[in-house]
Amino acid sequence: MSKRVALVTGGMGGIGTAICKALAEESCIVVANCLPGFPQKEEWLARTKSEGFAFHAVEGDVTDYDACAKMVREIESGIGPVDILVNNAGITRDNMFRKMVKSEWDAVLTTNLDSVFNVTHHVLSGMAERGWGRVINMSSVNGIKGQFGQANYSAAKAGILGFTKAIAQEMAKKGVTVNAIAPGYIGTDLVMAIKPEVREQIVATIPMGRLGRPEEIAHLVRYLASELAGFMTGATLNINGGLHMY
Ligand code: NDP
Repeated sequence: MSKRVALVTGGMGGIGTAICKALAEESCIVVANCLPGFPQKEEWLARTKSEGFAFHAVEGDVTDYDACAKMVREIESGIGPVDILVNNAGITRDNMFRKMVKSEWDAVLTTNLDSVFNVTHHVLSGMAERGWGRVINMSSVNGIKGQFGQANYSAAKAGILGFTKAIAQEMAKKGVTVNAIAPGYIGTDLVMAIKPEVREQIVATIPMGRLGRPEEIAHLVRYLASELAGFMTGATLNINGGLHMY
């Protein structure tokens, strides 16, 4: 069997980098997406190469539908069709809802939710025609339980769950699985940017008493991307140290 091609959006971020490594360990050809002009792209490629990984990089703003079309065409012509898509790119712009400005709402909705449409739309037909595919969407515990100060982020991440279940049904007979992961708090830049005193309060609410590690999320992505995950679709997998159970 030829190697699967995996595209990871936001692939050079904290969780994204761990996902790229885990998928390489699953024998995939890995393409990491980043924003156009991302200043650390070459440094990221060199660093991961020195660690033994041969990743491809592709630039593309996931909020831009046409740019995503171009990005997918570039991968298809240069590397091959995308078999595994990890919709991982995301941002936060936290604010109390009554103080939240429209640009904070729009930025989070377009980057976290519209992006999932923008990229998935260009790869799904190919997966269905080839009779095999994996779409893995990065949601959040806060998309499930809601979070004070994160109306935008909670709405976007909840939207991802509805999208996942709808597309999972449409693709179920096509050999394409569509699943979501809902991580709790993971020790990446996104969480380390939270004020230390607020972060300590968050950690105190996690039954395991610690933040998660990016590798722990990546291992779950690796499972969902594997052949043996072929019977799982439309699922939301919680991985949050016991922060929220339902
Ligand atoms: P990071 O900020 O480290 O990674 C996010 C990546 O997305 C960055 O590389 C960022 O690029 C990229 N990105 C942002 N906007 C765009 C865009 N328009 N086009 C392309 N790439 C873009 O965060 P994490 O690794 O922590 O988060 C990864 C995912 O996991 C996100 O979806 C996040 O919401 C989710 N998540 C994270 C949790 C956590 O605790 N860390 C918990 C639950 C969910 P750049 O750096 O250039 O902005």
